[in-house]
Amino acid sequence: MRCYKRGMHHTTQHTRKITASAHEKTTHGTLEVLEFSEQGRVKRAWIMALKCLGATALCVLIPVAHFFLVPLGILVVTPIMTIYTFRMKTKILSASIICPACNKPLAVLTSQEQYPIYENCSSCHRQITLTQAA
Ligand SMILES: [Zn+2]
Repeated sequence: MRCYKRGMHHTTQHTRKITASAHEKTTHGTLEVLEFSEQGRVKRAWIMALKCLGATALCVLIPVAHFFLVPLGILVVTPIMTIYTFRMKTKILSASIICPACNKPLAVLTSQEQYPIYENCSSCHRQITLTQAA
């Protein structure tokens, strides 16, 4: 476990033991996961809110479309993205998992760490179920 100190906020990196299964075959691997502290999540949510408002501000320059893009940006996109970012407690950084069906490395595209995770293998296109190993 490594710790990143970013000012007052800190985010920790964890390695999770993972069981990958497909068609009654299983393999074991690991996921590198970032875990955000409460302050870290608040900070990320603020940055997201500012990015959304910044994008909304640019929409002011678009003739006609700004009549609906600007309210949509302020009332819909900004709150949804801000809440979504705040609720995100963890983020998957990378994976070292071998596909149980074809023995090729499995790319994990999911960023939310919520088990079970379903991933489609890019080599054999089978659906792989990832669960946290005990
Ligand atoms: Zn595969």
